[in-house]
Amino acid sequence: VFNFSPGPATLPLPVLERAQKELVSCGGHGMSVMEMSHRSKMYMEIIEAAEAELRELMGIPDNYKVLFMGGGATMQFSCVPINLKQNGKADYIVSGSFAKKASQEAAKFLDVNVVASSKDTNFNCIPDLANAKFDPDADYVHITTNNTIYGTRYTKLPEVGDVPLVADASSNILSEPMDVSRFGLLYAGAQKNIGIAGVTIVVIREDLIGRAAENTPVMLDYKTYADSESMYNTPPCYPIYIAKLVFDWLKEMGGVPAIQAINEMKANLLYDYLDNTSFYHATAKKADRSLMNVTFTLPEPAMDALFVKEAAENGLVNLKGHRSVGGIRASIYNAMPMEGVQKLVDFMADFEKRHG
Ligand code: PLP
Repeated sequence: VFNFSPGPATLPLPVLERAQKELVSCGGHGMSVMEMSHRSKMYMEIIEAAEAELRELMGIPDNYKVLFMGGGATMQFSCVPINLKQNGKADYIVSGSFAKKASQEAAKFLDVNVVASSKDTNFNCIPDLANAKFDPDADYVHITTNNTIYGTRYTKLPEVGDVPLVADASSNILSEPMDVSRFGLLYAGAQKNIGIAGVTIVVIREDLIGRAAENTPVMLDYKTYADSESMYNTPPCYPIYIAKLVFDWLKEMGGVPAIQAINEMKANLLYDYLDNTSFYHATAKKADRSLMNVTFTLPEPAMDALFVKEAAENGLVNLKGHRSVGGIRASIYNAMPMEGVQKLVDFMADFEKRHG
């Protein structure tokens, strides 16, 4: 089937096949990665390669650390304010429900100023920043680079001066080039473009490490991970291994610019179709459309269930929109082949013909 799930999401087939081949014995070691000591030479080679490849793929500057953490992107909603708090205030741009959750969690630890929000239009766009009043003394500005539920993304980063820009890039990391030097910190759960749930990648500028209060729980402090190469305790070994396989695959595909070109072709195929029919309606504002999550509605919400059911019968699964928006959402992360998107468009045309 072609799996359009928003996450955990489809993995590249070559990655699954390689994981299968190496499941029982990896690298001639006679044991599964699941059975390796995380401090063994054989496992160290895996985690070191994962970091090196991510650095290469994203062009991560030397003054940034890569941390492999657990707890999902959601744990970062807490870690960010806990670790970056200095003046005790932060600016948040609320562009969707994960951005909102991040801001609500941060409000437990510092004063949160919501500088812009697109809630009034049910998050169908990135908030207009023309009137946003950024605080020059804020500890950071937090954004969500791609809004998984609503299908929007930033095409231009906000200008925040010297204040560190912090981004939840869970649903578009590695889908298009990102200038890491523009960020103080980037984080992403793995289960969309990196691999499987269990590991969260944090890319952080070194000067932002070591600011957490004395009584910060050891597993929430970025310094713990930075000082121990993410090996203070047992890391999520298998998810890190899968991430390495995904990075290998991405390099073989030609890296991030090459995958971006494919992602644009996939998204354009869908959006062009949506723009040329009056049966379906694309919900996100054109200028802010996501390359990863394409959201649209049918003429009647009552038709959603039939669409989802018939699509599934045609091998196109997990197309139901998020309960807060309704409609349909096609998540087309890096691993979704063009063929899957073409098949979806063909199905949509057929559905329109029969029900339009
Ligand atoms: N942020 C974004 C943009 C997401 O899409 C998600 C999950 O879909 C999350 C955060 C939550 O991630 P996790 O389940 O890894 O905590």
